[in-house]
Amino acid sequence: MTILIENIKQLVLTEEKPRKFVKGKAMADLNSIADAWLLIRQGKIADFGRMKELDKSDVLFETEDVKVLDATGKLVFPSFVDSHTHLVYPASREIEYVDKIKGLSYEEIARRGGGILNTARKMQEISEDELYEQAMQRLNEIISLGTGAVEIKSGYGLSTESELKMLRVIKRLKQDSPLTIRANFLGAHAVPAEYKGRQTEYVDKVISEMLPQVAEEGLADFVDVFCDKGFFTIKDTERILEAGQKYGLRGKIHANELDYSGGIQAGVKFNALSVDHLEYTGDAEIEALLASETMPTILPGAAFFLGMVYAPARKMIDAGLPVAMASDFNPGSAPSGNMQFILSMASIAYRLLPEEALYATTLNTAYAMGISDVLGSIARGKIANVFITKPIPTLEFMPYAFGSNKVETVILNGQVVHTEKC
Ligand SMILES: [Zn+2]
Repeated sequence: MTILIENIKQLVLTEEKPRKFVKGKAMADLNSIADAWLLIRQGKIADFGRMKELDKSDVLFETEDVKVLDATGKLVFPSFVDSHTHLVYPASREIEYVDKIKGLSYEEIARRGGGILNTARKMQEISEDELYEQAMQRLNEIISLGTGAVEIKSGYGLSTESELKMLRVIKRLKQDSPLTIRANFLGAHAVPAEYKGRQTEYVDKVISEMLPQVAEEGLADFVDVFCDKGFFTIKDTERILEAGQKYGLRGKIHANELDYSGGIQAGVKFNALSVDHLEYTGDAEIEALLASETMPTILPGAAFFLGMVYAPARKMIDAGLPVAMASDFNPGSAPSGNMQFILSMASIAYRLLPEEALYATTLNTAYAMGISDVLGSIARGKIANVFITKPIPTLEFMPYAFGSNKVETVILNGQVVHTEKC
């Protein structure tokens, strides 16, 4: 299938020379083409340019079956890349959220069925098929909102059997969904109740029982640890990252959400692909990140939902760092995978320019998933994951008009997979 999109009001985030990621001042510098065309052939971005220079006899083969889409008044963006989610889960947790509003304590909430440990209990009970169906619905929703690639974590299993169940579901989703998906093994998400007071023993189990099976079945692309105050220690984290390296699994870890925990430095030390959350990031953490290839990744949805302090994104970019932003889609602290909202949060709450916000949710998140060579921008040869907006005035309108769906037509792997038009 060949698709020619013509009369594009603005073709956003084009690259002549694709980069791995963009950092510091360069994040404010975004290439776009006004009055443009985009050619997609065999699932890839074949070519693009200005309408006035388009010679169809030049770019199209005579025998080709070409679908022509008219994008008059509309913009075309590279699909969002969501590099941090927990979207395979057995049940939503809205009652717990209301209990929190009512001021119930953590213990009361846990007694009434809230918290990670209760999700873990439900995970043990749910069938693999039911888990798959629920997750597929969530994937279809994020596709309609403009996401083209997503990382999904395990971590609600907390037993070998349940962790493998989650990862097998992610493997099936990888095969069946048009999204580009990467799996992250998060056995060390929380200490299960039966291991209370025996955290090191649980870490031993993650390393010597879970990891080998995950690796043998080829179920994960990355390994993750919740490294923070009250969760896993630096020592636990380093042991797991080191063990992951032996199986060729690079780290992508939860760090510095609750304290200056040293998690960022531990991630950098083991060359983690990303460190995520980062509410507690000071000069020492920025210094460590500047000397690394680790992508600092902020999760605005969780900070917003929990009413936490916001990570110092502006300070990080001004210091010369790259910044990525992902949804953290999960039932406890970020029950939304809407990357249009994350883009808006980037500008509204974190004071990023629209250009910086776009890099943070596309190219830089693609790097944080190890896929920026094939996704995250409009570049020749990359996978054709793009969306066409509804008629909107400008690129700046995308973060500005928060809360409404601006995406009209979604193309993944060079196929139209969703459209809002009747
Ligand atoms: Zn998370």
